[in-house]
Amino acid sequence: MHNLQRTRMNSYQQPDASGHFGPYGGSFVSETLTHAIAQLREAYARYQNDPEFLAEFEYELKHFVGRPSPVYHAARTSRELGGAQIYLKREDLNHTGAHKINNVIGQAMLAKRMGKPRVIAETGAGQHGVATATICARYGLECVVYMGSEDVKRQSPNVFRMKLLGATVVPVESGSKTLKDALNEAMRDWVANVDNTFYIIGTVAGPHPYPMMVRDFQSVIGKEAIEQMPSMLADQKIAAQQPDAVIACVGGGSNAMGIFHPYIPFEKTRLIGVEAAGEGLDSGKHSASLQRGSSGVLHGNRTFILQDANGQITETHSISAGLDYPGVGPEHAWLQEIGRAEYVGITDQEALAAFHFLCRTEGIIPALESSHAFAYAMKLGKTMRPDQSILVNLSGRGDKDIGTVADLSGEDFYDRPSMRGLTVKGAPGDAKP
Ligand SMILES: *Cc1c(COP(=O)(O)O)cnc(C)c1O
Repeated sequence: MHNLQRTRMNSYQQPDASGHFGPYGGSFVSETLTHAIAQLREAYARYQNDPEFLAEFEYELKHFVGRPSPVYHAARTSRELGGAQIYLKREDLNHTGAHKINNVIGQAMLAKRMGKPRVIAETGAGQHGVATATICARYGLECVVYMGSEDVKRQSPNVFRMKLLGATVVPVESGSKTLKDALNEAMRDWVANVDNTFYIIGTVAGPHPYPMMVRDFQSVIGKEAIEQMPSMLADQKIAAQQPDAVIACVGGGSNAMGIFHPYIPFEKTRLIGVEAAGEGLDSGKHSASLQRGSSGVLHGNRTFILQDANGQITETHSISAGLDYPGVGPEHAWLQEIGRAEYVGITDQEALAAFHFLCRTEGIIPALESSHAFAYAMKLGKTMRPDQSILVNLSGRGDKDIGTVADLSGEDFYDRPSMRGLTVKGAPGDAKP
């Protein structure tokens, strides 16, 4: 553990001027991109505290996204678990159904100001692609989205959504034909078209300033929660002003950084990131970069990555496409090292059981990604007292995942004449007397 652990967290100031979070982050890019990255850094430095820019950002979040997203007390869940009060930050209620749009709006506003008429993006499950295509339609920007050809096949509704919104989707045939290959291809496009093109990265990864910039745009989640929690807790006669723990799932780490960052000075609040443990942390089939990875350089920054002894990126696995990434934002590697955040794993099966539980107990169909965070909240909540509380970042809605869930449950939801609810083996909700 690093001695900075003893640094007062209210003086947490990261990254440094060169984009480093301790030894992580930085900017590892080819010569051709150095200029584009410098230009972006300058533009962001100019606008990040500009009142007119911030006012427009706030306006867009309010009128186009529907912010602030509510904090919801999951009363039935809390009662059934018999432990801590569980609260959900409802990012699933945002326009386009997840937190991703917050960041995309901020970057598209920069693209407009920098005079770049063409936007490119990479996408895995298609959520970031849809959010980017949405904003490009709204701002009249050309939009090209790179997507692994395997993902194009698995996520056809999102591919069609992007096309409806006027975007061009480019299937990527290299490597494992998934997200990391799409990222490589988008970088290549950027090198060739730096003059007219803005690259909108979808998570807190990539070269500096992306990890900081995306975090800043997503921090609206945590800032709102800090305002909302005192009265939510007071309603339950809880004396504390803020939750005992904040829990979020971690793929690249943007929804987690968005809710964690404003909470860093609140030292009594534990920050817990949940990685996809897939078939188990020791199965080799997971996406737990922070818990089973090691330091290395991927996609322009130093961070924790899943690699073999030769530094080759290893295959990852998760039931949820949004968590299936072999790296993680560099700031998470730093928060883990200084001990300000903890990282745990939730398996595919645990996430699926939590998904069904939330559907039936609260009337909310969550994204499979968010189900990982909720699953850990259920585990931890049971060990806590009813006058304690947990805030879960419900990063997105689960409509996109119902096909996956049906397949995994062995159910055919079109052909059955009557359906009074699926039978779910092992779902915590089934244990009722
Ligand atoms: C993309 C996505 C994630 C994972 O991305 P992060 O950058 O780790 O937040 C999580 N939840 C949902 C709903 C997503 O769409």
